[in-house]
Amino acid sequence: MNQIFNHLPTAELQALDAAHHMHPFTDGGELAAKGARVITRAQGCFITDSEGNDILDGMAGLWCVNLGYGREELAKAAYDQMRQLAFYNTFFQTTHPPVVALAKKLSELAPANLNHTFFALGGSDANDTNIRAVRVYWELKGKPTKTHIIARHNGYHGSTMGGGSLGGMAGIHAQGGLPIPGISHIAQPFWWAEGGDLSPEEFGLKAARALEAEIDRLDEDNVAAFIAEPVQGAGAVIVPPSTYWPEIQRICDERNILLIADEVICGFGRTGNWFGSDTFGIRPDIMTLAKGLSGGYVPIGASMLSDEIADTLNSTEFAHGYTYSGHPVSCAVALENLRILDEEGIVDRVGAETAPYLAEKWRALEDHPLVGEARIAGMMGALELTPDKSARAKFAAEEGTIGFMAREASINNGLVMRHVRDSLIISPPLVISRAEIDLLVERAAKTLDQVHARAKAEGLMKPA
Ligand SMILES: *Cc1c(COP(=O)(O)O)cnc(C)c1O
Repeated sequence: MNQIFNHLPTAELQALDAAHHMHPFTDGGELAAKGARVITRAQGCFITDSEGNDILDGMAGLWCVNLGYGREELAKAAYDQMRQLAFYNTFFQTTHPPVVALAKKLSELAPANLNHTFFALGGSDANDTNIRAVRVYWELKGKPTKTHIIARHNGYHGSTMGGGSLGGMAGIHAQGGLPIPGISHIAQPFWWAEGGDLSPEEFGLKAARALEAEIDRLDEDNVAAFIAEPVQGAGAVIVPPSTYWPEIQRICDERNILLIADEVICGFGRTGNWFGSDTFGIRPDIMTLAKGLSGGYVPIGASMLSDEIADTLNSTEFAHGYTYSGHPVSCAVALENLRILDEEGIVDRVGAETAPYLAEKWRALEDHPLVGEARIAGMMGALELTPDKSARAKFAAEEGTIGFMAREASINNGLVMRHVRDSLIISPPLVISRAEIDLLVERAAKTLDQVHARAKAEGLMKPA
């Protein structure tokens, strides 16, 4: 069937797609009018569409295809595991070798006190697990009022009822009765947009201290945890000022609040170390994992718990789990993915070589008249587009107009970048070579030139 559909003309695939496929985070009417881009194959850092265009995938799928596409070893790991044991559950006092091996491997890679993994299918449901886990933990510790969770505006933690509530995305909260009770949001450490006249360092402290104020407002006895991404990904690759995380860590320690690092994007090498927590000196009690855990080849997510939390939860039956928690095929592929990252020295190479190379080239784009700020952390970056850099101004046009224009231009120039409002973001596969980085930056620069010329011609280079 796959073969037959691969040979359908693009227009026919698009019509069937519009008729039967509901897309995530997509205005269906708009898409139906235009037709979805059909991706038919991929190899290395390039995807190919149904019209035969090869496009450099500057987003690694959706922040996940860290080894690039087409790795035979991962396909073989899935094939072998499906033949050996396609599925067995882990509910009723049973286990299987791939889940044991993966849990052990994760305990070796993660920060020292995180040695226990509860498996999920992605990041959203792993964060749902976290909400329940921290509340059950405090209840078992004799502090049943500690239930409230503090998160951040413009954070992203998924789109389930729990994950979408932890996230601070206004568009998600506007639909379906979110956030659920017991979750509140503090300011994000986004200096470009919200730093005003403060230096980034001063602003980092101020943003962190919003956590302390929120704990005071709620009363420490009611607060279970704080959750944050080391670097906000979907928010637009927001790299916090250097002062932010040490202050957050101090507050969580002093106020007896659990710290959940959502490492779904940052984990497994994205920031140049195994975890964003390593890069930013964070000591989390829980880490959320997904995306890079399997390099996008199969769905898997996880919550890694500290010894203290796991021992406490293990004193009772935690009435929680997913049929596919610790799915053997997902675990086998994830293990192979981690083996390759490790044995081929990919995380080390990103940290020592390719990320610094990308950073130098990416930061140079800040000289472009359309770019106000070029942010970069390891292999994730953002360009803040602006009509007036010195004022850090927004465009007078509806927010996202220029960003969307730039995203479309970028794809036509052979590079997938994503836009968030009027910023452009990248998160390429970790295996991207220097030559491919050159190509990425060259195509990004070409896009900036085109969009700048068009925005000027259409009178859009006006500050709000
Ligand atoms: C993608 C993402 C999630 C959600 O993961 P899904 O697998 O889409 O459910 C959660 N947290 C962060 C930081 C993410 O980037």
